[in-house]
Amino acid sequence: MKKFKAESQRLLELMINSIYTNKEIFLRELISNASDALDKLHFISLTDSDATRDFCIFISADKEARTLTIMDNGIGMNEKELDENLGTIAKSGTLAFKKENENEEGLIGQFGVGFYSAFMVADKVTVITRKYGDPAGYMWESTGVEGYSITPIDKEDCGTTVILHLKPDDDDCKYIKFTEEYEIAELIKKYSDYIRYPIQTYRTRKEKVDDKERDVTETVTLNSMTAIWKRPKGSVTREEFDAFIKSKYYEFESPLAVFNAAIEGNINYNMLVYIPAKAPINYYSKEYRKGLELYSSGVLITDCCSELLPDYLGFVKGLIDTPEVSLNISRELLQKDRQLHIIADSLEKKILAELKKLMESDRACYEKIMKEFGLSLKFGAYNNFGEKKDKIKDLLLFESSAGKMTSFKEYIERMKPEQEFIYYVCGRSLDGIKKMPQTEKILSDGYEILYLTEHIDEFVMKILDEYDGKKFKSVSDKEFNTDTDNKQYETLCEKLKNALGDEVKAVRVSSRLKSAPVCITADGQISLEMERVFSAMGDSIKAERVLELNPEHPVFKKLLDFETENNEDKLALYAKALYNIALLYEGMPLKDGGSLAEIIEKLL
Ligand code: ADP
Repeated sequence: MKKFKAESQRLLELMINSIYTNKEIFLRELISNASDALDKLHFISLTDSDATRDFCIFISADKEARTLTIMDNGIGMNEKELDENLGTIAKSGTLAFKKENENEEGLIGQFGVGFYSAFMVADKVTVITRKYGDPAGYMWESTGVEGYSITPIDKEDCGTTVILHLKPDDDDCKYIKFTEEYEIAELIKKYSDYIRYPIQTYRTRKEKVDDKERDVTETVTLNSMTAIWKRPKGSVTREEFDAFIKSKYYEFESPLAVFNAAIEGNINYNMLVYIPAKAPINYYSKEYRKGLELYSSGVLITDCCSELLPDYLGFVKGLIDTPEVSLNISRELLQKDRQLHIIADSLEKKILAELKKLMESDRACYEKIMKEFGLSLKFGAYNNFGEKKDKIKDLLLFESSAGKMTSFKEYIERMKPEQEFIYYVCGRSLDGIKKMPQTEKILSDGYEILYLTEHIDEFVMKILDEYDGKKFKSVSDKEFNTDTDNKQYETLCEKLKNALGDEVKAVRVSSRLKSAPVCITADGQISLEMERVFSAMGDSIKAERVLELNPEHPVFKKLLDFETENNEDKLALYAKALYNIALLYEGMPLKDGGSLAEIIEKLL
C-alpha cells in the first residue's frame, strides 16, 4: 500500500467528507480526463496508423453491484504515470487548492479538481489501465485516505477503465441514482455534450416480437459531439459559454467577456476566446505563459500556442479551431507556419474590435477589464517604440478629474474651446494625486486632468505625444511656470537653492500654485514619476528636481522678510522644511526623516 502525497490526501479528505451538493460534477471530470487521453492517442494516430481506433468513451452501470464504469480507449498510463498522476494531485488542482482552501465548497464546486472528485460518490475506486505501446496493464485501487495499491493486470487493449464503487445511500444523497441511465444521460447533456468523442452506453428497451415482450439492448451515443465553438451563432447562450469555460479552463468565476466567431475569407477559423474575471497571480511576471489552445478541425494540436497572441493580449484565453493548419505539424514548424501568423494577425484585429464594441455597449464590464488588464494594453501601446499605439490608443481608459474613467476621445469632447493641451498628472495613488499642489490651479480654471497612477502611464503619454492633434502635457511641466517674473526673487531663490544643495537643480517662483506654498517638479526629460519607475527597476537615473514657491502664499512673505533681515539660518531652515513638505505632497520618500523632525522642532 502506498501513501498519497500530503496535499492529495488533504484534498481527498475533502472529497470524501464533502457535504457539497453538487457531487454530480465527478462525471464531468472523469469524462474530461478520458477525452484528454483520447486526444493524446488521436494525435499519435496521425503519424502512427497502429494507434488508430474508433475512439470512444463508454459508460456502463451495474445497479446490483452499485458500480459505475467509465471506459476509454485512449493513451492509458504506465506504472510510473499511474503512480505520479493519481498519487499526486494534478497541477491545476494544486493551484485551486492553494487559492481557495478557506472556501472548500467553492473549491469543489467550481474548480476542476479532477480525478479525486470520484471520491465524492465512491468509497472505492478501481482504475485499470494500459498505456499505448506497452505490453501489459496495471490496476490502481484505493478506498480513500489510507493510500492506494498498484498491481500488474492483463488488459486487452490500451486505454483506461475507471470503476466507481458507489457509497451507500444516505439522507444526503442517493448515490444509486448514478446508475440510472436517464440520470447519466442528463449529466452528460449538461456537462459533456461538446466532447468530441462519442460517449456511449447500453440502452435496454422492450420490444414486442410475436406478441411477446423481450429486452433489446443497443448502444446509444449520449452527446451531440458538436464543439460548442462551432455551433451556429446565437444557438449558444452566454450561460452555456460560461459553464463550458469554467469547466474546461478551471475558471473560478465567469469570464468578463466571451468572444465567439466564425471567421471566413482569406483565412478560416473559429474562435472562442474569453477574458478571465481576474488576472492570474503571475500575469505580470515572466512565469506567465500566454497562449490559446489550437485545434485543427476539431483535433487538439497544442494546448498553449503562444504565437497566436501578441504579448499585450496575453490575458486572452480560449481556443482557435482552423482547418488551415496541418494536423501533424511539429512544434518547430508551427512557429514558422505562415497560416498561423495570418490567423494571429486576424485574431489580434478581431479581439481589438470586440473590445472596442464592448467599450461602447457595456462600459461597466469594459472598465472591469481595464482595471484587471489595462496595464497590459498600455504596455502594448508603448512597446517597440509605439509600433501599435494607433491600434490601441482608443481602447485606453484613465482616471480623471471628471470623476470617472475616460478615454482620450471622451476627454477631447469635454475640452474647453480654447484648450490647447490634454493635461495629466502622475502619482502613485488617486488620493495622493488629488492633493498635489500642481493640479489645483488648472482644476480651478475649469480644465480636466487625467490622473495617471500606473508606472507605465507617463511613458505611454510620451510615446503617443498627441491625440487628435492635441498634445499631452504634464501639469508638472516647466512650461506652466512661464508668466512669473523671477528676476526680483533671484537672490532669494539662489539662497534657498544653496541651502538645499544637490537635492534640487533649482528653486523657482511659480505661477501654477494656488493654495499650497510649494510643489516639486522636474526639468528635462526625466519626470519624477519616471525616476520612481527607474528606481523600482534598480536604476539610479534621477530627475532634475525643482522646488517651486507660491509667491501668493503667506510663507513666501516670511521668506522675503528673512532675506531682508539677512537671516540666513532661518532661510536655510525654511528651505528644508518647504522641500520636505513638497516631497510629502508629491508622495515621495522624505530625504531624511530624522532631520525633518529636527526642523519641525526648531520651527516650533
Ligand atoms: P488533471 O486532469 O487536471 O490533470 P486529474 O487529477 O483529473 O487532473 O488527472 C491527473 C492526471 O492523470 C491527468 O493529467 C492524466 O495524465 C492522468 N489521467 C487521468 N485520467 C486518465 C485517463 N482516463 N487516461 C489517461 N490518463 C489519465
